[in-house]
Amino acid sequence: MKTLRKRWNGLSLRKKWALATASVLFISFALVCTIVYISLHSWLLNEEKQSVNRSMEDLTAYFENAGSGLSLDDLRHNKGLMNSIIDKKQTVRILNEDGVELVRINDTVAEVPALPETMDHLPYVVEESKVGNTTCFVATGPIQLGHFQGYIQLTQPLSSLNALMRYMLTAMLLMGVVALIASWFVGAILSSVLLQPIQRLSKNMTRVAATKFEEPIQIEATTHDEVGNLINVYKEMMQELENAFVQQQRFIADASHELRTPIQVLEGHLSLLNRWGKDDRAILEESLAISEAEVQKMKQLIEELLALARREKKDDRDFVIVVEQVEDVVHEMTTIVDEAQMNVHYDESVVDVRAAISSNALRQILNNLIQNAVRYNSSIPIINIYLTNDSNNFTIVIEDNGIGMSQQSLEHIFERFYRVDKARSREHGGTGLGLSIVMMLVDRYDGKLTVSSEEEIGTRFTLHLPLYE
Ligand code: ATP
Ligand code: MG
Repeated sequence: MKTLRKRWNGLSLRKKWALATASVLFISFALVCTIVYISLHSWLLNEEKQSVNRSMEDLTAYFENAGSGLSLDDLRHNKGLMNSIIDKKQTVRILNEDGVELVRINDTVAEVPALPETMDHLPYVVEESKVGNTTCFVATGPIQLGHFQGYIQLTQPLSSLNALMRYMLTAMLLMGVVALIASWFVGAILSSVLLQPIQRLSKNMTRVAATKFEEPIQIEATTHDEVGNLINVYKEMMQELENAFVQQQRFIADASHELRTPIQVLEGHLSLLNRWGKDDRAILEESLAISEAEVQKMKQLIEELLALARREKKDDRDFVIVVEQVEDVVHEMTTIVDEAQMNVHYDESVVDVRAAISSNALRQILNNLIQNAVRYNSSIPIINIYLTNDSNNFTIVIEDNGIGMSQQSLEHIFERFYRVDKARSREHGGTGLGLSIVMMLVDRYDGKLTVSSEEEIGTRFTLHLPLYE
């Protein structure tokens, strides 16, 4: 039983379905056949018995009516009379009291049936018995013809009934086999048609699992039944999963990208501390304070990136004094890249102007743009930063004297992982993520970023940020 269940559990759904439908169909067919067979058999048997009863009753009535005028010899010589009473397939024998046959009419069974041992049920008894190889109904009753006392015995072979039943059984068995094969096929076809969408679903799941969402989910519900619903639910779930997965991947890539600069700054201060800070208390305190601030910034940066990954709405309370932040970033940058020349140009009027953006987001944007300006330059980088404002926006222009870009490349630089000159970018550890992060941040804070560039002359990024009111 256990191994049977184990085997059953090991079968595919298709085979289970085919097996179940085939079994149910076959069992129902077998049940119907058995009922038909049994009832037909008993009905036919009853018919045969009735025919025996009828003949016996006719014979007894005939003998009674004939009374004492009929002798054994009359019967012997005029068999036609009896013949007209009985059936063609019935044999009638008249026996004396010792069971010796005296007259025989018809001869449908080769052997002679024995007299029954008791004859309690008058006027005759009917028994089913085997005569030679043939099953027969044998009716035996006492008879009185004039002075003669003996028995009349009627034998009706059931060979035609048995032959019919055998024929029926063979036909039913044959039809059973045909039904079994047909039901197996029907089950197999039905299951394969109905389970096809599930199979497609399973294939798709395997593919998605193997490719880790690299290939798009390609499955469409073709039916409006439960399986169709299942596919739709699966697609929705997979879409959400894919989004979450992509978001996660993006966050990991962006976070490690954006953490590089603060880690570099922190590294610089720590090595400064290591070298001079132990003896110089002033350096120790300053570097510790800067390092602490840097760690704080890293924390905020991660939060900023998480918010970006989750596509959260910006916080309306965020604002920043732009000049302060720009000066700070430029100062920090000079500690990392000392060969570059960075000039910040602005009027007194913009000193206190606030833009509606978090300080972290602005720092990330500036860091990326300035880093690029330094990086994609074949001579000593000269970077000019212009800060202006009008009644709605604060404008930051970052201009470099670098290698510039073709018009064609400009269309793609905000795409993730896009790099104009892969070799050059790789040389600086570039991944092609910087500008796409910048664009996401600018979008999040409702800003605008445009770029213009000329090869071998330089590039200019113009950033507009809404003012904080
Ligand atoms: P990452 O910033 O991720 O370290 P990256 O600098 O290559 O790598 P992005 O900052 O997104 O990536 O820039 C995309 C590409 O645009 C760069 O590879 C570079 O070819 C080009 N580019 C960006 N800024 C400038 C610039 N100021 N001058 C010339 N080319 C630039
Ligand atoms: Mg970059």
